Amino acid sequence: MTATPYLATVYTGLSPAAADGLACVLCHRGYLTDPQPSRPVGIAADTGSQVFACSGTCHTHATTAQPVTTEGGTR
Ligand SMILES: [Zn+2]
Repeated sequence: MTATPYLATVYTGLSPAAADGLACVLCHRGYLTDPQPSRPVGIAADTGSQVFACSGTCHTHATTAQPVTTEGGTR
């Protein structure tokens, strides 16, 4: 088997919709109210759900930039 390894980025501090995979993790556009092509970019730390970014600019940013880890965050 030569399955492509999927590097799952763990996202924290997402909005509830984004953490459920219902909104873009970057621009927070809701996919229920504004459907558009999206691609998985990782998982939400809070829910364990797969999360998505808009196919295109958002996905590019999500997969090329490392998410900022906030140490000692707001929670
Ligand atoms: Zn987006």
